[in-house]
Amino acid sequence: MIEDPMSLFQASLEGNDSGIAILVIDVSQKKYEILLKNSIFTSLETEFEFSFFLKNKIERNDFQTEIIYKTDGKILETSFGHFAFHGDSEGKQYSKFFIRDITIKQKQEEEIAWRLRFELGVASSIQILIQKPSIRESLPQALYQLLYFTEMDSIFFLKNISSGDKDLFEIWVNERKSTDYPLLSDKFKSLDWKSQGLNRWIHKLKNGKVIYLKKEKALPKELWYFEESKAETILFIPVKFENHFLGIMGFQKYTPNFVIHHENLLIYQTVSRWMGLFVQRDLDLTELNRYKSTLESLILERTLDLSRTKEELERAYKAKTEFLAHVSHELRTPLNSIIGFSKLIQLPENDITGKEYLQYIYSGGTRLLKMINEILSLMKIESGQLNLQISEFKPEEIARQSLELIQPQADAKGMEIRFFPPIQSKNIRSDAGKIQQILLNLLSNAIKYGDHSYVEFHCEWIEGRVTFSVRDFGPGITEEDQSRIFHSFTRLNDDGKIEGSGLGLSISQGLAEKLGGNIELTSLWGEGSTFILKIPENIK
Ligand code: ADP
Repeated sequence: MIEDPMSLFQASLEGNDSGIAILVIDVSQKKYEILLKNSIFTSLETEFEFSFFLKNKIERNDFQTEIIYKTDGKILETSFGHFAFHGDSEGKQYSKFFIRDITIKQKQEEEIAWRLRFELGVASSIQILIQKPSIRESLPQALYQLLYFTEMDSIFFLKNISSGDKDLFEIWVNERKSTDYPLLSDKFKSLDWKSQGLNRWIHKLKNGKVIYLKKEKALPKELWYFEESKAETILFIPVKFENHFLGIMGFQKYTPNFVIHHENLLIYQTVSRWMGLFVQRDLDLTELNRYKSTLESLILERTLDLSRTKEELERAYKAKTEFLAHVSHELRTPLNSIIGFSKLIQLPENDITGKEYLQYIYSGGTRLLKMINEILSLMKIESGQLNLQISEFKPEEIARQSLELIQPQADAKGMEIRFFPPIQSKNIRSDAGKIQQILLNLLSNAIKYGDHSYVEFHCEWIEGRVTFSVRDFGPGITEEDQSRIFHSFTRLNDDGKIEGSGLGLSISQGLAEKLGGNIELTSLWGEGSTFILKIPENIK
């Protein structure tokens, strides 16, 4: 049996974390009356004058939830809940008014929001570090971005440039949130921290420890720093990569009584680790670029040296070629006379010795003339002064002419030359004289160096090119010597028994190349050699 329903209702308002008051509001008069209230409401009422607040709300007919920020920092949340009441009289509105202390909840929310913001700042500053190639460019931007999202007033980065036992730093970044705050003064440029009483700080930082210090906690010898920088609180974080102490990331706060939470300290340290990574990367890159540019200038120097040497060589070579060509020409004229006259001189029949000497003059002269002619050819080929005389002719004709010319040499050695003409007879466009010069050389070598049996001489068409091959059955040429013999003045087993200058093959190869062809050699030691001259059908 309920004896007093009112007191039961009153009791039901208790046991709640909100202050509650039951109001009856006179809508037209804009007045209200508190019918019931619980104890929390009563206690909050002593802190805050609700009558003015409620009157104001009712006058404006505003029953929205509202947050009250009190001057002592407390935050209250108010709301209305209208309800219908049995026996509701006209113009009256019943409402349940709630009031709740949400200071802690609000502070927590603010703290979370702030940390999120801080982490966002960290992420964006790291992104700047990642994107920009040079740390000197990106670091000021990245740290300014970070500062903007932190609770601190200014930021700097001091790059460690210590030498010997001096602890020196260079200011790389020096930023502040507003111009009201001072920047790190120039005094800190190349300041030896150790000799200025800051050795305790340096020691800690080098060991990877953070310095979070308020002015009132500083040692007397450190106080000058706070006075000079105007900071009230400092937060210095070492920037390291592996064991290298790269510098200091410093934050300062210029207002007193400021506290940095432990969690935030951890975030600051995360940033410093990232910075260590980027600063080191930049140092490595700078070092690498330094090597690269030294290497480049070294290469440039060498290239210049080389091109200078090349030019000198070319000049010397040209001078030599011109000289030789000139000398050869000057020698040929008198030599021709010597040879000619040695043939014309008539000696008495019985002057055997005289005739023998005359023969020496003649053969020595012709040998010399041959050599001079060869040198002249070589010079012409090498200096690019060789003139070609192009005409149309059948290759087998040139082969036959060469055969005729070489026949006396073969006969002298008692050797036979077996000629195999091509099946197909067609014209080529080339320099007949030069082809003949090559063929004579190859045939002459085959006779000179072959054995006493015979020489095979083929002329055929292979893959659209006319191919002359001269095969002998002499000693053959070792693989090692095969490429050597095409170099000028190279003679194998030069014992003076076989006449020659070592120029024939290099001239022949040079001529073949001028004609767009080449000479190939296949030879087996002990089985003879085949020299193959290939010439295109049509010279370009
Ligand atoms: P030369 O015959 O005037 O010495 P070449 O340039 O014609 O000069 O030949 C170079 C060298 O190659 C010769 O001295 C000789 O040793 C070697 N040679 C050339 N042709 C043959 C061959 N058919 N068989 C063996 N050796 C050869």
